[in-house]
Amino acid sequence: MKGIKLDWARLLADCVDFSQRLIQTPSMPHEEREIAALIADEMRRLQFDEVWLDEMGDVNGRLFGQNRHLPTLVLNSHLDHVDPGDPALWPAPPYSGKIVDGRIIGRGAADIKGPLAVQMYSMAALLRAGERPYRDVVFSGVVQEEIGGAGAEFWVQNLDYEVALVVLGEPSDNNLALGHRGITQMWVRFNGRSVHASAPEKGQNPNYALSAFLERLQDAQNELSSHSHLGPTTVSPTIIEVDTKSPNVIPAWTRVLLDFRTASESFNSLQAFVHQLAGDWPHAISNTWTNQPLPDSDETIYGYYTPPESAVAQKTQAAIAKGTGREPALTSYQFATDGRHFVPYHIPVIGYSPAEEDQAHIAGESIAIAKMGESLRGYVQLLRDF
Ligand SMILES: [Zn+2]
Repeated sequence: MKGIKLDWARLLADCVDFSQRLIQTPSMPHEEREIAALIADEMRRLQFDEVWLDEMGDVNGRLFGQNRHLPTLVLNSHLDHVDPGDPALWPAPPYSGKIVDGRIIGRGAADIKGPLAVQMYSMAALLRAGERPYRDVVFSGVVQEEIGGAGAEFWVQNLDYEVALVVLGEPSDNNLALGHRGITQMWVRFNGRSVHASAPEKGQNPNYALSAFLERLQDAQNELSSHSHLGPTTVSPTIIEVDTKSPNVIPAWTRVLLDFRTASESFNSLQAFVHQLAGDWPHAISNTWTNQPLPDSDETIYGYYTPPESAVAQKTQAAIAKGTGREPALTSYQFATDGRHFVPYHIPVIGYSPAEEDQAHIAGESIAIAKMGESLRGYVQLLRDF
């Protein structure tokens, strides 16, 4: 079916142009409607075989493969991004998509609009070359990744076709990210007795309990588990809050948000760990979103993990090495991704993206155009071979 020679320079130029248009279309969580329409229009213009939106606002596009009975290869990126913060901290306006020194600058450039454009244009590349992918390929653009992944959850719950592999566009520096740890966040609240701050002996100040707890927490980190490839469980206290805004009142309670990244813990093992460190001081653990108790469960909290020796990892690595002339390293993510939502459905997940992990969520976020060029070649070969 081959015949038309691919113009790689033209392909990259079009892909960069589309990345800029994506960056120029702000898409904070719950505000993805406009960018979903932009992506759908682009896929129709590129002559994808099917383009559709679902009730959640996720946008999808399909190319028919040579072997339509095989499970589908899915290229997944999210549509949303984090807040740009203070524009004064940026070398160019965060929604400009300006190119400086071979890099596209903008909120979402690396996480994840540049990689999203690469995924879509690798599909377009095959059509331009007069080719078909080996099996069906679906581009899946999902909403609300940055606030928990409701879009990805909806997508996987409503799947009506079989999936062989999901490739995530999350920043992996053109290497293969085979997994990441699970994530759990919880409030730990210490209760005290509120009185006038001038008479502390009459009350009970929960801030002392919190302070002792945090010290013990720091010392106890190495009691948590470790995964041979994904590394050790970590815990970071992030937000601290009290019930009062008054400077002359001892708080009735104080609470800290703990962000756990888990190797092999369950809700029950984490809660036991926290209770032991909190000791006798009256305290409670709750879900950060609902404020309800955490589930009573001994099941491992999922990240995702695709073993290096697995057939999907081997096949993906071989295809990308062939396409780019460079064997991609097998690595893992520090952060969590939507990949974890696919694990309960036994769908293999691998991250492959031209963006660099340290560019995600920073002021002045950018992506290297040369790396996008390499990634296009990797993705195109993956579509041909996988
Ligand atoms: Zn992301």
